[in-house]
Amino acid sequence: MNLASLFNKNRVVYSFEVFPPKKTSPIETIYNTLDELEGLKPDFISVTYGAGGRTSDTATCDIAAAIKNRYHIEPLAHLTCVNDTKQEIEQILSRLKENGIENILALRGDKNPDIAPRKEFKHSADLVAFIKEFGGFGISGACYPEGHPDAQSLEEDINNLKIKVDAGVDHLITQLFFDNNLFYSFMDKVRAKGIAVPVEAGIMPVTNKAQIERMVTLCGASLPSKFTKMMQRFEHSPAALQDAGIAYAVDQIVDLISRGVDGIHLYTMNKPYVARKITESISGLINA
Ligand code: FAD
Repeated sequence: MNLASLFNKNRVVYSFEVFPPKKTSPIETIYNTLDELEGLKPDFISVTYGAGGRTSDTATCDIAAAIKNRYHIEPLAHLTCVNDTKQEIEQILSRLKENGIENILALRGDKNPDIAPRKEFKHSADLVAFIKEFGGFGISGACYPEGHPDAQSLEEDINNLKIKVDAGVDHLITQLFFDNNLFYSFMDKVRAKGIAVPVEAGIMPVTNKAQIERMVTLCGASLPSKFTKMMQRFEHSPAALQDAGIAYAVDQIVDLISRGVDGIHLYTMNKPYVARKITESISGLINA
C-alpha cells in the first residue's frame, strides 16, 4: 500500500518513528517497544537508517519487516544515499522488496566530515529518481520548516524541495519544530510553490534536557520562550520535565489538527510510555 493513499480530508494520519537499537544492544530490544506501540494503532511506523552507527546493515529492513509481518502495521523504511554506490542501494532495494516493504523515506543523509561522500547520489532527489526507476515503492521525503542547515535560505530550500517532489515523492515528513507558526508559514510557501503532496508534521516530545540540546544542535530548531521557560523551570526534575514535554507536544498537536494538518508523525525516541500518554490525549481528535 502506498502511504499517500492514507491521506484524505476526513481524518488525520497518525504515525510513529522508531530507531534500531545501538549496535551494542541486541536487535530484539526493539520488540519490547513495538509490542507497546502496536496497541496505539498508528497508521504506519517508520524506521530510521544509520542511527547509532548502524549504516549499510540490515537492521532497518529487519525491523520494518517485523512491523509488517509480526505487527501487521505498514512500515516506512528510511534510506540514506550519500555514502552509498548505486550497486549498494540496488541491493538494499531488492532486500526491502523481498521482505514485502512497500514504502521508503528517501534521504540524502548527513555528510560525515571525516568521509568523502560518494559521487553517485548528491541529493535526495537523485535517490528518489533511482527508486522510481527501480519501481514498486511509494516514496516519502523529508522537509524543513526552518530550512535545511545547508541551504542559504528557506526559499532556496523550498525550490530544492520542489525538485525532489517532482522527481517522485508522494508524501513529506517535516523535521521537528517547537513553534507551530513556523510550520504554518512554511506550508503557505510550500503550497504557493505548487507542492501539493501531503505533509506530516514531525513532533518530538521533549523528555530530557540533554536530548533536546543534542537535537537542537543537530537540526537548529528555534525554541520559543514558552518552551525555554518550561525547560528552565523543570530541568532538575526529570519526572516534571517529562510531564511538561508531553503536555507541550499535545498542545502543539491540538493546534495543528485544529488548523487542518494532513498528519502527525511522532518521533517516539523508542519511548512507548511517552507515545501512549500523547496518544491517549489526542486519539479523539485524530478521528473527529
Ligand atoms: P536533501 O533533500 O538532499 O537536501 C539537503 C540539502 O541539499 C538542502 O540544503 C537542500 O536545499 C539541498 N538540495 C537538495 N536538492 C538540491 C539540488 N537539486 N540542488 C542543490 N541543492 C539541493 N538521517 C539519517 O541518517 N537517517 C535517518 O533515518 C534520517 N531520518 C530522517 C527523517 C526525517 C523526517 C528528517 C527530516 C530527517 C532525517 N534524517 C535522517 C536527517 C537527514 O538525513 C539530514 O537532514 C540530511 O542532512 C538531509 O537529508 P535530505 O534527504 O533532506 O537531503
